Amino acid sequence: MRIAVIGGGLAGCATACELALAGHEVSLMERSGSVAAEASFAPTGAIAAAMLAGFGPLALAAAGQPPARATPTDLLRPGRARWAHQSRKPHPGTARHAQVLAQESPLRLTALAHHHQLALEDSHQAASLLVLFTTARARSRVQKLATRQHSGPDSPWQVPEPLDADAAQALEPGLATAALKGGAWHLPGQALIHAHTLAHALKDETRRLGAHIHFGQAVHRIEPGPPWRVEGQAYDAVVLCTGGLTLSGAGLPKPPLRPRWAMSLTAPLQSMDHNLEQGPLAGPQGIVADAQAGVVITRLGDRLRAATDCGWQAGDAATARRLYECLERWFPGAARSARVQSWSHAVALTPDGLPLVGPAGDAPGLWLHLGLGLHGAAWAVAGAHRLARQIGGAAPDALDAALAPSRWR
Ligand SMILES: Cc1cc2nc3c(=O)[nH]c(=O)nc-3n(C[C@H](O)[C@H](O)[C@H](O)COP(=O)(O)OP(=O)(O)OC[C@H]3O[C@@H](n4cnc5c(N)ncnc54)[C@H](O)[C@@H]3O)c2cc1C
Repeated sequence: MRIAVIGGGLAGCATACELALAGHEVSLMERSGSVAAEASFAPTGAIAAAMLAGFGPLALAAAGQPPARATPTDLLRPGRARWAHQSRKPHPGTARHAQVLAQESPLRLTALAHHHQLALEDSHQAASLLVLFTTARARSRVQKLATRQHSGPDSPWQVPEPLDADAAQALEPGLATAALKGGAWHLPGQALIHAHTLAHALKDETRRLGAHIHFGQAVHRIEPGPPWRVEGQAYDAVVLCTGGLTLSGAGLPKPPLRPRWAMSLTAPLQSMDHNLEQGPLAGPQGIVADAQAGVVITRLGDRLRAATDCGWQAGDAATARRLYECLERWFPGAARSARVQSWSHAVALTPDGLPLVGPAGDAPGLWLHLGLGLHGAAWAVAGAHRLARQIGGAAPDALDAALAPSRWR
């Protein structure tokens, strides 16, 4: 089939790559001059399936934070009241679906690298997650919330025994433990994705497989099909990987999506011995989450990144300060502070926090891979594989059904 993939973030690059691997004639269109220029630019890239709840704002470390509530003026905006209403009753099993999708991504990456020999080596790695608590009360609050979200007969969620400061430091030698009054949970078997590197590697492999990649190509409108017409060209199918909905056209669905903001700080790591330019680097080994501050800190090669969910507004100087304080609390002096870069971007969030992956509606040939919210690094690769299988004619399984855009009709 001739397929147009619109949007070159992590979701678009992974989708284009899966479709090209399946033998389709793929065109990837991205409005910027490069892939991963928007939400996929600088996420922490944590894939922490063990703690992943379906509803974005509560996920991962932010499990310790109260969910952001919409304000009355906010609700007056078109579609917002409906979104807020729908978000109050997430589907049963949402947290489990979120976890399974996150577990599938690293497996699929390994299969792409080994079985299909794609060159993706430096773009992902196994990692463990250390969740840090500054008080025992905070730990018990997070524990209650996580148990509620992950309850169910087939849930893999087990409350870990809390580690004391020495045990936590044995796992993360650079960790400062003065504030660790509530202990830590150690959750091994997670993964880290270097989102920007991965998007570029997937794009290169997609091109090598014969796909056409068009940068600086903003698509404003598509003409309904089949054949679908995008920028004057005819396609058998179109996949929207635009983060949120950024284009119009008859027959395009209007799924409930809201922009939600997150912010990250990135800095090169100092050497553990500040007098030495070379030598072992300070900072985390894997993923560290401060459950109260709602901050996730990861190590990406020789850099450190800290990120937080900012709610409905862009991160500002106060958010950056909160991130920096958190870094200094747990890894004092690890970041080369003169070279810290901050970045805030919106992601598109569905009411239940799960992405939209599947047929867009009744019009054959229009597919969505949108609304990856705050977990796109964890979900994009698995979602792309699932979507390509369905486009190839495979019958949807139970998880495909849970991710289907039709759940919001
Ligand atoms: C600070 C921060 C930290 C995060 N941390 C994590 C984390 O630890 N773990 C995790 O799993 N996720 C994390 N995320 C979320 C993750 O980064 C996103 O979910 C993911 O990058 C979304 O990918 P995407 O491809 O759907 O969207 P995007 O990366 O936004 O890609 C959409 C692309 O479509 C293009 N586009 C849009 N409209 C058009 C058009 N009309 N024509 C052509 N092109 C178009 C855009 O230019 C863009 O490149 C974080 C996000 C942020 C902001």
